[in-house]
Amino acid sequence: MVIAIEEKKFQKTLSKGLKEFEKMYIAHKTVSGEEAFVLYSTYGFPLELTEELVREKGKHVDKKTFQAEFTRHQELSRLGAGLKFAGGLADHSDETTKLHTATHLLHKALRMVLGDHVEQRGSNITSERLRFDFSHTDKLTDEQKNLVEQIVNSQIKANLPMGFEMMTVEEAKNAGAIGLFEDKYALLGDKIKVYTAGDAEHGIFSREICGGPHVDRTGDLGAFAILKEESSSSGIRRIKAVIGEQALLALKVRKS
Ligand SMILES: [Zn+2]
Repeated sequence: MVIAIEEKKFQKTLSKGLKEFEKMYIAHKTVSGEEAFVLYSTYGFPLELTEELVREKGKHVDKKTFQAEFTRHQELSRLGAGLKFAGGLADHSDETTKLHTATHLLHKALRMVLGDHVEQRGSNITSERLRFDFSHTDKLTDEQKNLVEQIVNSQIKANLPMGFEMMTVEEAKNAGAIGLFEDKYALLGDKIKVYTAGDAEHGIFSREICGGPHVDRTGDLGAFAILKEESSSSGIRRIKAVIGEQALLALKVRKS
């Protein structure tokens, strides 16, 4: 049973990795050492497999670059261990990953409803709820809260794909990414991860600088409900919200 599940997981990883491989290959008729590393680190796609696939097409993977990326990544993980909490994630369970993904939708929805002055000021996630602090002076009206909820729920319903691209800070800004453009990113090298909710087919809902992890599709969140909106400190508001069954329940209770 366990083996069967592991096998299934591996199959899924492989097919995802293969899809990415094909995209990369189509883009420039080979796969670079850097890309081989992305396949390995993001999709768990073994280097040997990438090499084999590339060899079949009469090309070869630059293993030196792969190795260099590997070493760089190890160094970054060491550096990154201290930064992880900046994202507010206590652990990487399914539930916290979902809740974290919800903060992206919430962040964008707040900006749509309240204005572009809204910026994330903090985030804390437990397995039960998300907490999101943002710059805004006034208490939210019921109407604003409802609207924010509706926007988030409509993006969940649209089941948008979540994906990321590596961009320079400049590229990220030009692409309209929101999030923390902080000096600490200089530590992480030239490129930063920018997560996008949506794609060309569905339309892009939001782009945000973030390290992840996120769910693959927004539909995985099920539903979203704001439980509380309050002052956090001067000029900062705080929202506590839930997703999934808890959100459905909260929405139902409120209606009745
Ligand atoms: Zn994120």
